[in-house]
Amino acid sequence: MHELSLISALVEEVSRDAQERGVSRITTVNLAVGKRAHALPHALLFCFDLIKQDTILADAQLIIEVVPPVFYCERCGLNEVHDKLWANCAHCGLPTVPAGGMELEIRGYEGDGPDARKENKN
Ligand SMILES: [Zn+2]
Repeated sequence: MHELSLISALVEEVSRDAQERGVSRITTVNLAVGKRAHALPHALLFCFDLIKQDTILADAQLIIEVVPPVFYCERCGLNEVHDKLWANCAHCGLPTVPAGGMELEIRGYEGDGPDARKENKN
């Protein structure tokens, strides 16, 4: 399962970062998942519950934000957000190029410790 390796990388990354910052227990992890990222949210949640056991994320909740895909029209130069996996330009009707919605990134996490709140700035 693809999601298993994604989640084990996520748990590893958060654990390492939290330990460096003296955080002993993580309570929530916020993850942004692009709709085109080929990762199913329910599978990610299932894998998270399996992998978090015996880590400092054992009590943590994974919060997934599904990011809708963005499409770019090369003729009009416009970006459009669609809740679809492919789309034609709404203005000229040409096929558009995917320009977003592939992300799979940790947006931040919270936990107990001196400096336990982390937000990715982007
Ligand atoms: Zn167009």
